[in-house]
Amino acid sequence: MSTENHVNESILNDEIREFQKKNRIDHMKYLPDMEVLESDVMDQVLSAAEQYDPDMFTAEDVRMALAHEYRTPEDFGALLSPAALPLLEEIAVCAKKEKEKYFGNSISMFTPIYIANYCENFCIYCGFNCHNKIRRAQLTPEEIEKEMEAIAKSGLQEILILTGESKTKSTVEYIGEACKIARKYFRVIGLEVYPMNTEDYAYLHECGADYVTVFQETYHADKYETLHLAGHKRIFPYRLNAQERALRGGMRGVGFGALLGLDDFRKDAFATGMHAWYLQKKYPQAEIAFSCPRLRPIINNDKINPMDVHEAQLLQVVCAYRLFMPFAGITVSTRECARVRDNLMKIAATKISAGVSTGIGEHVEEMEDKGDAQFEISDTRSVQEVYDGLLDEGLQPVMADYIYV
Ligand code: SF4
Repeated sequence: MSTENHVNESILNDEIREFQKKNRIDHMKYLPDMEVLESDVMDQVLSAAEQYDPDMFTAEDVRMALAHEYRTPEDFGALLSPAALPLLEEIAVCAKKEKEKYFGNSISMFTPIYIANYCENFCIYCGFNCHNKIRRAQLTPEEIEKEMEAIAKSGLQEILILTGESKTKSTVEYIGEACKIARKYFRVIGLEVYPMNTEDYAYLHECGADYVTVFQETYHADKYETLHLAGHKRIFPYRLNAQERALRGGMRGVGFGALLGLDDFRKDAFATGMHAWYLQKKYPQAEIAFSCPRLRPIINNDKINPMDVHEAQLLQVVCAYRLFMPFAGITVSTRECARVRDNLMKIAATKISAGVSTGIGEHVEEMEDKGDAQFEISDTRSVQEVYDGLLDEGLQPVMADYIYV
């Protein structure tokens, strides 16, 4: 593992260590309610990741990768390697051309809505984890409708629904209800909720959901085990196969993301790309998207604040995704500041959130602010401000790229 970028286990306090010791379950073994998918995708991804050595590439490999019309996994590995960093300007020029070939100057806009923040998982790097004392809340269907109505007035036509990860509090039916309400106000509906079985994804698709994003956080199974101490999320293979179950459930799109900074970010970015690549080969109709979050400071834990994935490395990862899978969507969240986001939109990314609040019930003024926010946001611009900012950069904001007939 690279020493340049990881969360150190020393952040664990004694209470957590004790908990971990007593309650540790095998993170590679499915729990009884989890659907076991007959699929070779995970093995393919982990094998590719295992063989990937970022230090074996040279500047010549990177130049060859740039020269290719279609990039191979080896090219992708070269573009993510340390040898590529000094060539970042050339890489960015090439990525921009590739983006313009498939997307022109359009940038999709959306906003996330946090309808609950209950979570049964114990991810040590997250402010929502079940051991963190934060204000928990869940919107009622009436409150969801009020929030969505307010968001729709901003002109947005795409929404991403988030719940935290508690299947008992935010049931599949509850999420389905939120999708049905969202369908009244929005043309595109994404979900970022706990991984579920194929039949649940099929149900949510029927309720109106179009795509599902699941963050694997890190593809390094041993590291994953030290960071996810309890809850369904601890089960590494169930999470990794979520996108495939979502596609089998009928979702038209799936999103992928590693939390850059949890482990060696080059290896995690490589595994993320390979995961998407193998699934795209198996399900050619799938719309693929990447998110590129860097670890952010979290409430109640000031020891996690890794700044090792600097802007140059983030740009490198985004460009590598663009060059490897040129038709994939790439989202940059409000974890990044406006300057970084706008810059990435100009070069290689295609999707931006706006008017973001990570708290519960914050879009309607008269609604009491109910629950704490998961992480600090850096880009606090309104929908109009992001829209105008894109126009100023010569980009075309797009509210929805999907029409139901
Ligand atoms: S990262 Fe997600 S699953 Fe983990 S504690 Fe936070 S909200 Fe829960």
